[in-house]
Amino acid sequence: MTPGIRPLIAGNWKMHGTLAEASRLAEGVKGGATGADLLVCPPFLHIPGVVSALRGSSVAVGGQDCHAAAKGAHTGDVSAAMLCDAGATHVILGHSERRADHGETDADVRAKAESALAAGLTPIVCVGETEDQRLAGEAEHVVEAQLAGSLPDGFAEAGGVVAYEPVWAIGTGRTPTEDDIAAIHGAMRRALVGRFGKPAEATRLLYGGSVKPGNAVAILALPHVDGALVGGASLVAADFLAIAQAAG
Ligand code: PEP
Repeated sequence: MTPGIRPLIAGNWKMHGTLAEASRLAEGVKGGATGADLLVCPPFLHIPGVVSALRGSSVAVGGQDCHAAAKGAHTGDVSAAMLCDAGATHVILGHSERRADHGETDADVRAKAESALAAGLTPIVCVGETEDQRLAGEAEHVVEAQLAGSLPDGFAEAGGVVAYEPVWAIGTGRTPTEDDIAAIHGAMRRALVGRFGKPAEATRLLYGGSVKPGNAVAILALPHVDGALVGGASLVAADFLAIAQAAG
């Protein structure tokens, strides 16, 4: 944790569940009283239903991606303004699955983050090295380069969030050592403060990659880990809430 930063626990539901299942999951996380902010990111189609299921609770809703353009001929895409209109307040951008499945580059992610900020959404920009890059000792350098390329000017001032998600830890049950997570998060803080100045001292830096109830306490206690981006465990309400409890 970073003193003075309220943690954020975000669930990435990816492409899972029917609307009925998503609504049930939302009902399940709704009463989670914790010292952390909670966010769930359902598939686009389920956002209005989940927003409605969460009405009256403090759990926020986000998208998993948005297009960089405000509108236009972009078949199958969704704009940042559409997410806002549906009740979302956040959007995950540059997730490694988007980078791998859709060839998204740092420049693409930066353009999407600019669009999200212009629409009033809080972007959660994901960065993280592959296993080969870690084994080659390049993890820190890769993450710093992704940050430099993916974050638009004004990002920290606008409250943008960064998620460090080592690609090899996503959905695998494997995590970096606590020392390795702390080293990357420390490097990210230095890089952000170097570029954005004082506002970046308050930027939330999330860790993501196989966060579970069993490892959340240790991970969330690390310096400059200000929350978690949770995939698989966010699909089970009790697990998601247990992770949130670990945050405070
Ligand atoms: C993710 O995809 O953002 C993620 C962290 O997944 P998991 O928690 O399942 O590793």
